[in-house]
Amino acid sequence: MERWLNKVAVVSGASSGIGAVIAADLVKNGFIVVALARRMDRLHEKQLALSEDLRLRYHPRKCDVTDEAEVKNTFAWIEANLGGTDVLVNNAGIATKGPLLTSEHDTESFRNVVDTNIMSVVYCVREAFHSMKKRKFDGHVVIINSVLGHSVPMRLAEDMNIYPATKHAVTAMVEIYRQAFSRTGTKVKVTSISPGIVETELLPHMGAYRKAGKPLLYPEDVSNAILYALSTPPHVQIHELILKSIGEE
Ligand code: NDP
Repeated sequence: MERWLNKVAVVSGASSGIGAVIAADLVKNGFIVVALARRMDRLHEKQLALSEDLRLRYHPRKCDVTDEAEVKNTFAWIEANLGGTDVLVNNAGIATKGPLLTSEHDTESFRNVVDTNIMSVVYCVREAFHSMKKRKFDGHVVIINSVLGHSVPMRLAEDMNIYPATKHAVTAMVEIYRQAFSRTGTKVKVTSISPGIVETELLPHMGAYRKAGKPLLYPEDVSNAILYALSTPPHVQIHELILKSIGEE
């Protein structure tokens, strides 16, 4: 990880779960981290949990990733204050309960899942990539996908709605980014990390999938996979890591 020393990593959804753990792990591995989320109190808690010297390398920033203007402002702030972005861990994501064939009033919650899981990727990756290109360094975009971005197991997904569709879209986007990045002649990598069921605050929103899919992974397991992807030499690009706990379908 030495080549990343003092490089800037942006982590979306850093106030809980997987994002909170990877943000702390990146600081411990020598990165300067910009931790994004809407709940600033949570980000400050995570910052305080770090040792005093590491706290200075952790920058909490309020950013709703569904808000295009806010995302642009955030990356502009990073450019102005920290010199730009070298790594993006695009992690923010939500799920919502209730089947797809549901009453009309739930449509808004589905739209919110689409905005959070798909449109935020569009906004964040675009800003991060332009910054990486300017930096002329081998940047890395890590996208937190899901096993539900690859299949929709019938037995596990009876209560599922738009969430697997958004993660399937992410699978396609990762491939589109890989091709687009390479067409620009940069050496920016893109890696998709697809976990099975992880013990986080997202789980109560997963309905039947949660119960049927036990046992669990932990955010630390996902963070270790991200660190592994980042630790590969410049010529090696990990396309996809699928993580499941032993016994998980
Ligand atoms: P958590 O609910 O613990 O964390 C979600 C994070 O996303 C929070 O920090 C939340 O911060 C942030 N977030 C949500 N909406 C927004 C928004 N509009 N703007 C900014 N930040 C937002 O869940 P996980 O850690 O489990 O989820 C992280 C990722 O992992 C997601 O992409 C999820 O789909 C994926 N995943 C999770 C699995 C699981 O079983 N838990 C399995 C496979 C993939 P705040 O509310 O403060 O804004």
